[in-house]
Amino acid sequence: MRVALKVDVDTLRGTRVGVPALQQLFRDAGADATFLFSVGPDHTGRALRRVFRRGFLGKVKRTSIVRNYGLGTLLYGTLLPGPRVGRRAGAIMRATHALGFEVGLHAYDHVRWQDFVTHRGEGWTFREFARGGDAFQSVFGFRPQTAGAAGWQMNVHAFAAEEAAGLRYASDCRGSGPFYPMIEGRVFRCLQIPSTLPTLDELIGRHGIREAALAGVLFEASQRRAGDQVFTLHAELEGIRYRAALERLLALWREAGVSCMSLGSFYRGLDLTRVPVCEIRMGSVPGRSGRLVRQGPVRDPVRTAGASGEPIPLSAFL
Ligand SMILES: [Zn+2]
Repeated sequence: MRVALKVDVDTLRGTRVGVPALQQLFRDAGADATFLFSVGPDHTGRALRRVFRRGFLGKVKRTSIVRNYGLGTLLYGTLLPGPRVGRRAGAIMRATHALGFEVGLHAYDHVRWQDFVTHRGEGWTFREFARGGDAFQSVFGFRPQTAGAAGWQMNVHAFAAEEAAGLRYASDCRGSGPFYPMIEGRVFRCLQIPSTLPTLDELIGRHGIREAALAGVLFEASQRRAGDQVFTLHAELEGIRYRAALERLLALWREAGVSCMSLGSFYRGLDLTRVPVCEIRMGSVPGRSGRLVRQGPVRDPVRTAGASGEPIPLSAFL
């Protein structure tokens, strides 16, 4: 079995503290991964506004946002100006690439994208995506070759922007396996490699899952399901407070002969002639507030051999 590891890096603190820690951890475990960076301003403090939205208080209680993100981070974009992550921590991003890890674009302004993209049109979406690409290029000297949307939030124009940028694959959705996305009757050429496993923060506090049991629960989830998996982790969580849980999970996968790889390696191992076309649907996943982009039903049965495009009920893992 193959597991693609996708690291979402949301904040300046996650870039500075979480990313180097994860690099060390991956190297020690013989694992590869893709790091997706937020390259513009860190406005995480604005996410505090979500506290007042229905359904979010439970999550705050469970994951202890302040403890995980740090008080300074929660002031960015509210009481303090949001620092430009690419400018302040570009050296760490470049070092990630120099160490041989795949790098890609997570967002320009993570909070802004997550909060607004589903309500915005073509101009806004292409502008934000281009800002991300430009800031990414300022850091690395080349355009992003892959991307993964902040908070799994997308609109039809965002899929078009990825295609226009020449991306061959991206990971913006939750689902069961690789597919070409179809939205409003249009099929996009940028292949989606959806996250298939629940994230650590979605598990914390649910069904009495304690920190010490997280690795086991995730490992079981990956074993219970046939086929290759995609696991999204966060520099702010697994790279800082939940390092031990990730270390244990990587050890379990290693003992089971599972190879942990980047999205790029995962993509290159696919038989693209057998990848289905699936609709994109908005939906929810247990343990996460709000709606996000999910892999919907298969629309092109000619190309579906060997794949069921049905969205996975994540609850089946628990
Ligand atoms: Zn993120």
